[in-house]
Amino acid sequence: MARTPLLMGNWKMYKTVAEARAFAEELGQHSQALGTAVDYAICAPFTSLHVLRVMLPAQVKMGAQNVYPEKEGAFTGEISPLMLAEFGTQYVLAGHSERRTLFGESDQMVNHKVRAIVDAGMIPVLCVGENLSQKESGQTQAIVSGQVTQGIAGLSSDAVARAVIAYEPVWAIGSGKTATAEDAETVAREIRSVIAEHVDAAAANAVRILYGGSVKPDNIAGFIQQPNIDGALVGGASLKASSFVEMASAI
Ligand code: PGA
Repeated sequence: MARTPLLMGNWKMYKTVAEARAFAEELGQHSQALGTAVDYAICAPFTSLHVLRVMLPAQVKMGAQNVYPEKEGAFTGEISPLMLAEFGTQYVLAGHSERRTLFGESDQMVNHKVRAIVDAGMIPVLCVGENLSQKESGQTQAIVSGQVTQGIAGLSSDAVARAVIAYEPVWAIGSGKTATAEDAETVAREIRSVIAEHVDAAAANAVRILYGGSVKPDNIAGFIQQPNIDGALVGGASLKASSFVEMASAI
């Protein structure tokens, strides 16, 4: 079964509601450039989800950047999977390197989040990737395989098949440096074989794998053309509607 490509923006802690509205308006003017055979999503700060739900072109889905893996309770400052699902959120990031490094999220916490996102009927986007010293010491495959197996632990084959995994080398995020398309493809292929081994072949074949890390309109095509890479998770270059449209046109 062919996998539907996915172009996903990660706005991080950028954009006020007014700025999010302006983005959605501009994207709406170019919605004919968004293909029907591609999935699109924007992972926005919680405060901008409402305006995006109302104003984004119908093909562009909403994603959240974080969630707390409990149904409800005394967790001041947190947002539950149920709240996000009720709101119409389709995707939720889990394990982004900024959450792992700045907020100390362990593989165990990432797995709790992934399972809670699935239980609430949304699609987890499990982010994995090695840092520079791990890359230089030849640990990329070991780090990525460990993050994948721990991240998806306890999920059914069907849930893994519907999930998204984003391979984002930490040293490539926001740095202007990217992995080569060939190196990213090698890691994506390895992720599929890890899933085939730990889950099953059907899940390994169906799971969508994105590349992330300094993806831009002028380099996205090289990644998308790789057989095991199904799309991109884009930070900085997703903040401008015109760049989002340019990347959409390159898929
Ligand atoms: P970048 O961020 O595209 O700005 O490198 C990617 C990400 O952090 O998801």
